[in-house]
Amino acid sequence: MNATSPLALLGGPPVIDIPSPRFSWPPIEDRDVSAVTSQLTAAVSIADRSGVVADLEDALASFLGVRHVVTSCTGTAALHSMYAAVGIGPGDEVIVPALTFHATATPLFHLGARPVLADVNEHGQLDLDDAARRITARTKAIVAVHLWGLPEKMDALAAFSTRHDLILLEDGSHAHGATWRGQPVGSFGHGAAFSMNGPKPLSAGEGGFVATDDTELYYRVLLHGQYNKRCRREIPADHTLAPYAVTGMGLKLRIHPLAAALAHAQLPRLKDYLAGREAIAARMRRALRGVPGIDVPHPPSPAGPAWYALPLRYHPDQLADLPIERFLEAVHAEGADEVDLPGSTRALGDHPLFHTPGALLPGYPDHQGPATDSFANARRVHGSTVKLPVWHRDQDLQLADAYTAAVIKVVEHHKELVK
Ligand SMILES: *Cc1c(COP(=O)(O)O)cnc(C)c1O
Repeated sequence: MNATSPLALLGGPPVIDIPSPRFSWPPIEDRDVSAVTSQLTAAVSIADRSGVVADLEDALASFLGVRHVVTSCTGTAALHSMYAAVGIGPGDEVIVPALTFHATATPLFHLGARPVLADVNEHGQLDLDDAARRITARTKAIVAVHLWGLPEKMDALAAFSTRHDLILLEDGSHAHGATWRGQPVGSFGHGAAFSMNGPKPLSAGEGGFVATDDTELYYRVLLHGQYNKRCRREIPADHTLAPYAVTGMGLKLRIHPLAAALAHAQLPRLKDYLAGREAIAARMRRALRGVPGIDVPHPPSPAGPAWYALPLRYHPDQLADLPIERFLEAVHAEGADEVDLPGSTRALGDHPLFHTPGALLPGYPDHQGPATDSFANARRVHGSTVKLPVWHRDQDLQLADAYTAAVIKVVEHHKELVK
């Protein structure tokens, strides 16, 4: 390590000389390969709740401590099914944090509903005062997003939703296995949707699921995206919705059995992965504590994060106004390639789909876009966030140390970059 030498960006030797890629997810072991290859001969299409689909849903339900899980092809589809299943429809409003991945909100457009963005606080979490100001007679639900795997303050959100008579929902896509007061996120809301996309803490490659304790909600999630066999077998014949079983709501959003096999093979290791991440995140936070221009997250004591990333806040005013992009360029030059600025997880109001939806969504005239407001905090938090990967294995400690050393080296030499 060459942490004291000149900056690599200015011709010095880089801190990190270990070959790329230095972080990849999910970790693929022999048992993942054999789970997926044996699934190839077991079944490559599963139309009911059987085989690896049932096994994965049972394992997820027990992991989260909920009664029902329905898998789906993506997290976006899971969110769509969850919103449809709680009965969100034309004209309904749902409060969504202004800082999240867009798919937390976009499925609402496809139900004729309106995502109502609420600003976030300094920690990038829902500002409940701002949310309260945006409640109208049409507000039906509020969505908690556990950004970067740091759990939302679920007592406050639960109390808020009760006080305002709103349905509490969760998007746990960054936070499989994260806990609040020891309880898994995804088990607080009336329903929760998760992605199992490539880099997410639990990965199917592509996939998602809805978790709920409510059996009626479960039937409706099935009817949204799992028509025919699965609905006919699981919705009781005397249920009022049973006649809809053959068509459901007309969408098909099933998970691929090979994807289910990968997630099912990964899940038993998730707790160990998260324990490893917790240890490495603590070490990285310690290394960066007190470094000028850099704030490390301090999760409150009830929080058990999943550390999907280590989100740092960058303060250029403490570093001679060195722009964040130039800072990042210098960190990359040190060989810390996987440090980045959040790309798609940003202030939603800045996407054309949110401020001028009319060109793509004719039912949504631009002046009705949810994001005519400025969402100052969402923008500020997004514009000052730098993400570091969080490894989970002891043998990666050296890499974690090298990444924090790269950040510290650039901070220590920042003046050379603004001359
Ligand atoms: C990834 C993600 C989604 C969408 O999941 P896909 O599986 O990519 O469709 C939704 N919300 C959040 C917060 C995400 O990170």
